[in-house]
Amino acid sequence: MVKSSTIEVSCQCGAPLAHYQKRGKGRLVKMFFDRILTDHAGVFLTDPPLPINQAIACPRCGKRVATVHVVRGRYAAKVNRGAVRAS
Ligand SMILES: [Zn+2]
Repeated sequence: MVKSSTIEVSCQCGAPLAHYQKRGKGRLVKMFFDRILTDHAGVFLTDPPLPINQAIACPRCGKRVATVHVVRGRYAAKVNRGAVRAS
């Protein structure tokens, strides 16, 4: 069984971004949209959905925190590793 845990993802400025169900261990590299439990800032699960390659910015400081990609047919946010922290 693959280990999963839930983490809080926030911007380096402290703004909360998402409550995320992460699989496996290691650094947070991408966030599958279908595993985002709570989109605190409303920047990931938008209506209409974000287009591929769209940059996702922190709502507080405006820094780019992720970019939209499709990974194995699923939408995911590839995180800008210097810009987010996971706990
Ligand atoms: Zn920020």
